[in-house]
Amino acid sequence: MQQSTHNGRLVVVAAPSGAGKGTLLKRVREQLPNITVTVSATTRPPRPGETDGVEYFFYSPEEFDRLIAENALVEWAHVHGERYGTLKSELDRVLRGDNIVIFELDVQGMRHIKRLYPDAVSVFIAPPSMEELERRLAGRGTNNAEDMALRLKNARGEMSARLEFDYVVVNDDLARATAELIAVVRGEARSTKIP
Ligand code: ADP
Ligand code: 5GP
Repeated sequence: MQQSTHNGRLVVVAAPSGAGKGTLLKRVREQLPNITVTVSATTRPPRPGETDGVEYFFYSPEEFDRLIAENALVEWAHVHGERYGTLKSELDRVLRGDNIVIFELDVQGMRHIKRLYPDAVSVFIAPPSMEELERRLAGRGTNNAEDMALRLKNARGEMSARLEFDYVVVNDDLARATAELIAVVRGEARSTKIP
């Protein structure tokens, strides 16, 4: 793919579910105007308040099968029992501008985008502890018990992949973590890795 057509930075953000990625990215977007976050395709049903084309493009499993068959996805992965992927049309859209582009992906998606775009910067959002992650997931209240257990189980695997990322931001204090993520997104972070 033609990385040369894009003038902005590419940033891949991944996190265990409930670590606060959505909360942090909302703050980053409020504070940095020149950010575009890609909208992924998914088979996951919309949560209350989610709108098709805003948080995700929502597809049935059959429609997602068709996207795969038509080669319409740059990458896709099974995550928490559903399928998620980046549409080629969405990648084309974000690469047309010169904004900083943020991809919210899982670890497999991060590896894929780094292969396509070696200059992309990857950042892992870590919870302060697994106990706090569980509290946050429960507090969000958008997942049933079975889905929550799956997300917690997957979190352990995701945590063990965190050192594959260029940066690790621990989301303990929200204001501090936001500042740290903004520094990474703007290419101004000083440390190379915060384990
Ligand atoms: P994710 O997008 O990673 O799944 P969310 O952004 O939905 O996670 O956050 C999960 C829950 O944790 C939400 O209820 C959110 O308000 C809370 N949360 C996020 N960041 C913090 C923080 N730094 N301290 C305490 N609670 C937080
Ligand atoms: P949620 O169901 O909580 O919205 O998202 C679950 C996870 O799916 C995200 O945290 C992210 O790790 C992963 N994800 C979302 N979109 C994509 C995508 O386009 N590709 C890949 N590989 N993973 C994604």
